[in-house]
Amino acid sequence: MFGLIGHLTSLEYAQSVAQDLGYPEYADQGLDFWCSAPPQVVDSFQVKSVTGQVISGKYIESCFLPEMLVNRRVKAAIRKVLNAMALAQKSDINITALGGFSSIIFEEFNLKDNAQVRNVELDFSRFTTGNTHTAYIICQQVEKGAALLGLDLSQATIAVCGATGDIGSGVCRWLTQKRDAGELLLIARNRERLENLQTELSRGKICDLKEALPQADIIVWVASLPKGIEIEIESLKNPCLIIDGGYPKNLDSAFNAPGVTILKGGIVEHSLDIDWQIMKIVSMDIPSRQMFACFAEAILLDFEGWHTNFSWGRNQISVAKMEQIGEASRKHGFRPLLTL
Ligand code: NDP
Repeated sequence: MFGLIGHLTSLEYAQSVAQDLGYPEYADQGLDFWCSAPPQVVDSFQVKSVTGQVISGKYIESCFLPEMLVNRRVKAAIRKVLNAMALAQKSDINITALGGFSSIIFEEFNLKDNAQVRNVELDFSRFTTGNTHTAYIICQQVEKGAALLGLDLSQATIAVCGATGDIGSGVCRWLTQKRDAGELLLIARNRERLENLQTELSRGKICDLKEALPQADIIVWVASLPKGIEIEIESLKNPCLIIDGGYPKNLDSAFNAPGVTILKGGIVEHSLDIDWQIMKIVSMDIPSRQMFACFAEAILLDFEGWHTNFSWGRNQISVAKMEQIGEASRKHGFRPLLTL
């Protein structure tokens, strides 16, 4: 059995969907209440592969909200992730994806040193960040999206915002080792990590956002922002392909600018319907088929019987592992979302 640990994107949104999640009493409650809420299994379902194989899964709502990080509720955020992992383990789930901010909190606050959660000793081999599949899918969206717009990758300038992160560094490795993409613009805040990445890649130009955006033919957003930001749309190139892989979205609002195409990054579509509720709640366009690529990684690991922490630790994503999970992804009927 596979598990998915997820969370909602804001307090306001969580209040609006509390009823659907099975918590009507949370609808009028503020952040304090969500900070004290325990994790819950809110959905159980089956997924069928195009090979005919059927597996079962559960969705665990951790009750983490990104506001906990900006409002100095870090201890609550840590508790949410550890408690959700303990619940997954107690529920006898073989492999569970740590969706969205769950894996970021795990790494940022070194939670591998907190394996004892009350009477449960966490076995980290039962968890995966899902980031290898996410990075692979984003690279597919870059390649296929560029082809649809008539952009030649070998000539393109590609800006990666969040380049030094787990997903961002995987994307940069793929684009340099596998595709020989044009120019790479590397964006993040910590200069030392940027320089280390530049050394590892033997290429890439370190840029700030304002400098990078007007130069980019393709922009990949994979920064860990608790809230979306606004950008100067007028400064973007025409055409420009934007792949927003953030959860919550890195870009504050949807916009309609001539020549600018935005893809929902890190989202996959399955070939067969899945009878689950949760993807309606997280606002997928086709909830019975679309999902986050990190969740799909847990599904793929369960299909393949690879009950192991396939994606673990920071900045370990290799092109070989992206190819391996990509092959499993295609075999079981998943494809990158390319709806423009
Ligand atoms: P990491 O924490 O590993 O990396 C985050 C990156 O963003 C780092 O390079 C960090 O560098 C950079 N960053 C953070 N804040 C800023 C800022 N203000 N300006 C510029 N750069 C910034 O995160 P992940 O790679 O694990 O995840 C990235 C995003 O992808 C998140 O939004 C996450 O929720 C989402 N995600 C989506 C999935 C999907 O299935 N679609 C799956 C998993 C994650 P620095 O701190 O130096 O600025």
